[in-house]
Amino acid sequence: MHDVIIIGAGPAGLSAALLLARCRRTVFLFDSNKPRNGLSQGLHGYLTRDGVGPFELRALGRADLARYPCMTLHEDTVTDVRRAAGMFEVTAESGRKERSRLLLLATGRVDSVPDRPGFQEYFGRGVYHCPYCDGWEHRGQPLAVYGGGRRVIGFARDLLTWSDQVTICCDGPPEWTGGESRAAGLGIRVITRRLLRLEGGAEGLTHIRFETGDPLPCGALFFNGECPQRSSLPERLGCQFDQDSSVLCNQHAAANVPGLYIAGNVRGGRHLAITAAAEGAEAAVAINEVLLDRAYPSSSA
Ligand SMILES: Cc1cc2nc3c(=O)[nH]c(=O)nc-3n(C[C@H](O)[C@H](O)[C@H](O)COP(=O)(O)OP(=O)(O)OC[C@H]3O[C@@H](n4cnc5c(N)ncnc54)[C@H](O)[C@@H]3O)c2cc1C
Repeated sequence: MHDVIIIGAGPAGLSAALLLARCRRTVFLFDSNKPRNGLSQGLHGYLTRDGVGPFELRALGRADLARYPCMTLHEDTVTDVRRAAGMFEVTAESGRKERSRLLLLATGRVDSVPDRPGFQEYFGRGVYHCPYCDGWEHRGQPLAVYGGGRRVIGFARDLLTWSDQVTICCDGPPEWTGGESRAAGLGIRVITRRLLRLEGGAEGLTHIRFETGDPLPCGALFFNGECPQRSSLPERLGCQFDQDSSVLCNQHAAANVPGLYIAGNVRGGRHLAITAAAEGAEAAVAINEVLLDRAYPSSSA
């Protein structure tokens, strides 16, 4: 019986594991090693690690944990979790079973990349969802925003932070009316021609080709897509979700299921790696306090 099982060893799970290990808690960490940013060329905006590869950050995190004997990291996919008699029983793909008093889910999300030619090929190499992550690398270049939904003009305006050459590629008639004049007022161009494919080379995206007319030179294209949960475990455990499919938790990272805690992109808020790591630390403190209260009830203090 471990104090805590953590599922997911991205920035959130690794950070929680580190703090819990330093609290002398026995921690068992399962990870299937599929980071959300696995296709990224470099993780940006993470203090002291700006530009580090996504797998390198994980290797550094795992190396930090290796110093702590009460910590076990096991590469395996968790397929089932049951809560019974006030504890959690976790089963992995290999058949391995582990039990714990408390459970932390840090299983992350996946990005639904638009199903259009070239998008998946250039995802992480010129096609992105987050300008805070990758905008700086394309500063001053021609940038594009994909889509004709209502929120696209606001998203295109955000990109003016990094370049004054911003084009909205609607890929057909947009959902909005009058958006062109608002975009024009911001100096943003709108193209409604159907997109044929994205083109580029070894370095990444260079052009957007349309069914008709001239191609558009483009250093980076951003889309505002859905990002569903990577794992069905939150649903199977009975977690509550908001309209953005974020798992709801209180300010101490506790979900509606007793003994279950949440950290990282599984939650809502800013989906940055450093935020995920901070949420992991926040959950770790909350978990340690619960374990402390169980061992030494505060009424006896
Ligand atoms: C292309 C791209 C570029 C990005 N660039 C940046 C950037 O530059 N800067 C930045 O701050 N953020 C960036 N992000 C966002 C960043 O990837 C996330 O904020 C961060 O990875 C979230 O950390 P996490 O720990 O919540 O989840 P993740 O890093 O996704 O880790 C979740 C872990 O849980 C594991 N897991 C899931 N289900 C199971 C299961 N059932 N059993 C076992 N293990 C499981 C997964 O394999 C994974 O290892 C980028 C995202 C993308 C898509």
